[in-house]
This record gives sequence, C-alpha cells and structure tokens, in this order.
Amino acid sequence: MNTCKKCQSKDVKTLTTNEMVKYKGHDIPFLIEYSICNNCQREFVSKQQIQRGDCHLRDAKKVIDGLLTSEQIKQARKLLGLTQEQAALVFGGGKRAFSKYERAEVSQSVAMDTLIRVYLDNPKIFKRRLAEVGLINSFTQVAKQKIAYPKQHKPVKLRLIKSLPSMQELKYG
Ligand SMILES: [Zn+2]
Repeated sequence: MNTCKKCQSKDVKTLTTNEMVKYKGHDIPFLIEYSICNNCQREFVSKQQIQRGDCHLRDAKKVIDGLLTSEQIKQARKLLGLTQEQAALVFGGGKRAFSKYERAEVSQSVAMDTLIRVYLDNPKIFKRRLAEVGLINSFTQVAKQKIAYPKQHKPVKLRLIKSLPSMQELKYG
C-alpha cells in the first residue's frame, strides 16, 4: 500500500509515463511508475516503484545483451526440473542467486547464462552435474530441453579444429 509521507493519506493514485532510455545504440521503452497524493497533491516515486522500474530496465538491457531474461531463466530452471535451492547446488552463485535472477534484481553473468544453455542443450552433461551434486543417480534419464532464446542471441557455432596432430604423430617415433 502506497502512503503519502507528507500528509499520511492513503488516497494515493498510481500513474505511469513512457520514457526512452538509450542503451548501446538501442532505444529501450521504459515505463516509469509514480504516485500522486489525492489529498495534498504531492507527487512522488515510492521505493517499490523505483525497484520495479530498475527490474524492468535490467531485463530490457539483457535482451539487447543477448542474455536470458528473468522470465526465461525461470522457464529454463523449471525445464531442468530444479527448485531454486537445487539450482544453487548445480550452478553455484549462492543460495538466493536464482531468486534474484528471476525477479530481475540481479543480472546473471555471461558465464552463468552460457552454462544454463549448455545444460538445456546437453542432457548428458547436465546429468553428470546432477550426479556430482547428489541430485540423481546414474540411471535417471534427463531429456533435452528447449526454450525460446532472446532474438538478439546468435548462437556461436563450434567447429572442429582439423589441424590437430593425430596421436600417432605425437609419439615422435
Ligand atoms: Zn499527501
């Protein structure tokens, strides 16, 4: 509940305005929430409104950076069949890491983002990790999972390096 700090009235109305924020040459539409007290006409932005705005902006920047959004991280974690606590065991980053990512309170690192995608695409690697942290035994099946990645993300194509010397050549006679 929003209360006016000047007159203590709870008769506060919420308004929004659209702004544009520049980020890496892109225009991000940015919805700003603010309040007006109907009693004393004071205009203010509450702490929660600032936090919501920050989270919204953080997510919009992640799309431009090609990172999974907060919603996609949540989707990915569920596809992997993990609770937030289990995700902390599998991925590291602290107990509350996924709760922070999923509320867009913190942006995940590029390394964390990559690891999430690697596990989604490679059930075998994911299964090995689950076994390492004691979440499954070696007989459990893990299915390959797909999620819709951000449009800006261009997957890096891995190519086999053909010029590697063969084992024979390494023996030097
Ligand atoms: Zn007021």
